[in-house]
Amino acid sequence: MSAVRAQALPGDRVHITTDSATEPFWQAAKERRLVACECADCGHFRMPPTPFCPECQSTAVDWVRLSGQGEVYSFTVIHGFPGLPDVTMVAAVVDLPDAPGARLVSNIIDVDPADVRIGMRLAVDFWPIADGWQLPVFRAVEPAEQR
Ligand SMILES: [Zn+2]
Repeated sequence: MSAVRAQALPGDRVHITTDSATEPFWQAAKERRLVACECADCGHFRMPPTPFCPECQSTAVDWVRLSGQGEVYSFTVIHGFPGLPDVTMVAAVVDLPDAPGARLVSNIIDVDPADVRIGMRLAVDFWPIADGWQLPVFRAVEPAEQR
């Protein structure tokens, strides 16, 4: 069986915009670090980053460096994209164990979509995109490393 491997969109197709709330996340990703926005007052993690803490309305944030481990919370397999009929992508909502309550919407790459499972363990990687930015994506942790 010739397994389909999921991939991310070609980097030159992916354009991001940043604002003052999200730029630290993207700057860290550019340096291949995954960070999460934590309220400096109440410790609530919020992703995507927003200017105000939804719990206590504080604007004070700490950018916490994460291990890069993740777990599949939910996912969907996408076959084809406008102009790229042959691309297969796994779009996933990823739980971040180091940042309880925070989840990242991302892609799982280099995986057979049929092998993706809820709760599957992942590790972050970075995918070059337009304008010199890097997109955090995830790869499956090898089965031997599971548990
Ligand atoms: Zn707070």
